[in-house]
Amino acid sequence: MAQYRCCFCNGKRKRGKADYMIKLGEEVIIIKNVPVLICENCGERFYSLGVSRKMEKIIKAYREGTIPLAASKTILATEIAFSTNMAAFSA
Ligand SMILES: [Zn+2]
Repeated sequence: MAQYRCCFCNGKRKRGKADYMIKLGEEVIIIKNVPVLICENCGERFYSLGVSRKMEKIIKAYREGTIPLAASKTILATEIAFSTNMAAFSA
Protein backbone atom coordinates (compact mmCIF):
# COMPACT_ATOMS: atom_id res chain seq x y z
CA MET A 1 0.00 0.00 0.00
CA ALA A 2 1.47 3.34 -0.99
CA GLN A 3 2.08 5.78 1.82
CA TYR A 4 0.05 8.68 0.47
CA ARG A 5 -0.19 11.68 2.70
CA CYS A 6 -3.25 12.60 4.68
CA CYS A 7 -5.82 14.27 2.44
CA PHE A 8 -6.92 16.54 5.31
CA CYS A 9 -3.67 17.89 6.74
CA ASN A 10 -0.97 16.44 4.43
CA GLY A 11 0.54 14.63 7.42
CA LYS A 12 2.39 11.33 7.26
CA ARG A 13 0.32 8.19 7.57
CA LYS A 14 1.51 5.02 9.24
CA ARG A 15 0.08 1.55 9.24
CA GLY A 16 -1.66 0.42 12.34
CA LYS A 17 -4.59 -1.49 13.79
CA ALA A 18 -7.70 0.07 15.19
CA ASP A 19 -10.99 -1.04 16.64
CA TYR A 20 -13.95 -0.03 14.52
CA MET A 21 -17.16 0.62 16.39
CA ILE A 22 -20.54 0.76 14.72
CA LYS A 23 -24.04 1.13 16.09
CA LEU A 24 -26.70 -1.14 14.68
CA GLY A 25 -30.06 -0.09 16.01
CA GLU A 26 -29.81 -0.60 19.78
CA GLU A 27 -26.63 -2.66 19.56
CA VAL A 28 -23.04 -1.58 19.29
CA ILE A 29 -20.51 -3.87 17.69
CA ILE A 30 -16.76 -3.43 17.67
CA ILE A 31 -14.62 -4.97 14.96
CA LYS A 32 -11.21 -5.49 16.51
CA ASN A 33 -7.74 -4.99 15.05
CA VAL A 34 -8.82 -3.56 11.71
CA PRO A 35 -5.83 -2.66 9.50
CA VAL A 36 -5.78 1.10 8.94
CA LEU A 37 -3.52 3.92 7.92
CA ILE A 38 -3.44 6.50 10.68
CA CYS A 39 -2.36 10.09 10.12
CA GLU A 40 0.46 10.86 12.56
CA ASN A 41 -0.58 14.50 12.60
CA CYS A 42 -4.38 14.63 12.88
CA GLY A 43 -5.19 11.03 13.77
CA GLU A 44 -7.58 10.53 10.87
CA ARG A 45 -8.03 6.85 10.00
CA PHE A 46 -8.06 5.58 6.45
CA TYR A 47 -9.44 2.21 5.46
CA SER A 48 -8.56 0.51 2.20
CA LEU A 49 -11.33 -0.56 -0.14
CA GLY A 50 -10.68 -4.21 0.64
CA VAL A 51 -10.87 -3.56 4.37
CA SER A 52 -14.08 -1.53 3.99
CA ARG A 53 -15.65 -4.33 1.98
CA LYS A 54 -14.69 -6.93 4.55
CA MET A 55 -16.16 -4.81 7.34
CA GLU A 56 -19.41 -4.52 5.38
CA LYS A 57 -19.48 -8.32 5.07
CA ILE A 58 -18.79 -8.76 8.78
CA ILE A 59 -21.61 -6.35 9.65
CA LYS A 60 -23.99 -8.07 7.23
CA ALA A 61 -23.09 -11.48 8.66
CA TYR A 62 -23.65 -10.16 12.16
CA ARG A 63 -27.10 -8.84 11.22
CA GLU A 64 -27.96 -12.20 9.68
CA GLY A 65 -26.69 -14.05 12.72
CA THR A 66 -24.07 -15.97 10.75
CA ILE A 67 -20.93 -14.81 12.59
CA PRO A 68 -19.32 -17.94 14.09
CA LEU A 69 -19.78 -17.96 17.85
CA ALA A 70 -16.08 -18.50 18.43
CA ALA A 71 -15.32 -15.32 16.46
CA SER A 72 -17.20 -12.99 18.70
CA LYS A 73 -17.92 -12.43 22.33
CA THR A 74 -20.57 -10.33 23.93
CA ILE A 75 -19.38 -7.81 26.46
CA LEU A 76 -21.21 -4.52 26.81
CA ALA A 77 -20.91 -4.55 23.07
CA THR A 78 -20.02 -7.39 20.74
CA GLU A 79 -16.45 -7.70 19.55
CA ILE A 80 -15.74 -9.42 16.27
CA ALA A 81 -12.20 -10.18 15.20
CA PHE A 82 -11.42 -8.62 11.84
CA SER A 83 -9.26 -11.65 11.07
CA THR A 84 -12.28 -13.95 11.30
CA ASN A 85 -12.27 -16.49 8.50
CA MET A 86 -15.71 -17.31 7.19
CA ALA A 87 -16.86 -19.22 4.16
CA ALA A 88 -19.28 -16.37 3.40
CA PHE A 89 -16.40 -13.97 2.87
CA SER A 90 -15.03 -15.85 -0.10
CA ALA A 91 -18.39 -16.17 -1.87
ZN1 LIG B 1 -4.01 14.29 8.86
